[in-house]
Amino acid sequence: MTRGTDDFYGTVVRREQLTPSLVRVVLGGPGMAGWGAGRPDATDAYFVLRFPPAGAPYAAPFSVAQVEAEHPRALWPAHRHYSVRAWDAVAEELSVDFVVHGDSGLAGPWARDAQVGDQVVLSTSHGSHRPDPGADWHLLVGDEAALPAIAASLEVLPAGARAIAILVCDGAEHELELSTPASLEVQWLHRTGDPSDADLLVDAVRSLDFPDGRVHGFVHGEAGEVREVRRHLLGERQVPRADLSVSGYWRRTMTDEAWRRVKRDWNAEVESDVPTA
Ligand SMILES: Cc1cc2nc3c(=O)[nH]c(=O)nc-3n(C[C@H](O)[C@H](O)[C@H](O)COP(=O)(O)OP(=O)(O)OC[C@H]3O[C@@H](n4cnc5c(N)ncnc54)[C@H](O)[C@@H]3O)c2cc1C
Repeated sequence: MTRGTDDFYGTVVRREQLTPSLVRVVLGGPGMAGWGAGRPDATDAYFVLRFPPAGAPYAAPFSVAQVEAEHPRALWPAHRHYSVRAWDAVAEELSVDFVVHGDSGLAGPWARDAQVGDQVVLSTSHGSHRPDPGADWHLLVGDEAALPAIAASLEVLPAGARAIAILVCDGAEHELELSTPASLEVQWLHRTGDPSDADLLVDAVRSLDFPDGRVHGFVHGEAGEVREVRRHLLGERQVPRADLSVSGYWRRTMTDEAWRRVKRDWNAEVESDVPTA
């Protein structure tokens, strides 16, 4: 097997249940050597995990290019994007926080069942967002899937910075302690199982008494929910596009494959929600 230049092999070295629905998996071992080289200086850094389909005649560790050359498309590995929660450059260990959202899907169940010694194929990382030190305050909005990037963003804010985080989860036991040198105000919103849960984030942002000055915003999570927050921030709050990082990390009722198929059209529609000035 020839290992591709973008293939790394992570071995599960630790697994920690952070909340009932959030699991931290730490990937290390010799297959992670050099993974940190060229890592972006971003707090939303993400990478791709590869999962062989059921019945595949290969298992991790595998070369993605070789598998794709030797097998029909139906046997190619599926992929999922995950955020870099933390990278320990000395131990060469990557911490990844997975939302475990039931039995459906690939990545959630994999993380739920991960055992020390399991192996997974992953790519190098990409990313572009970092809190702007020139902003007067920082607004971080999202759900559990965005928590890793939000937590990483909060950690790099300096003392004296001001941040407001508006986060949605399933209840008090799903809340995560967030640490930051900045002055942080956190609002945890709890879903109740009602369809109106989809409005929790946008309603909270609508009700927020905005501090004075320029805001730098990071809004990520379920696509429909972040769309409404974006519409409000650009439209009613007149936040400049350049001061916002917004994206739908996942889409309710769709697998990641289904979401990726419609994401381009969705993003084009979202772009037209608020006309450019
Ligand atoms: C750049 C980027 C970074 C991301 N970082 C993270 C991260 O650090 N941690 C993380 O957990 N997720 C993260 N995500 C989201 C993650 O990629 C998706 O949630 C993905 O769909 C999960 O794959 P799966 O195989 O578990 O479920 P899928 O097979 O994709 O979906 C199966 C079912 O589960 C539902 N589902 C998927 N995700 C969720 C969820 N979060 N909550 C409730 N239901 C869900 C789907 O709607 C579908 O009905 C990130 C996404 C992007 C684009």
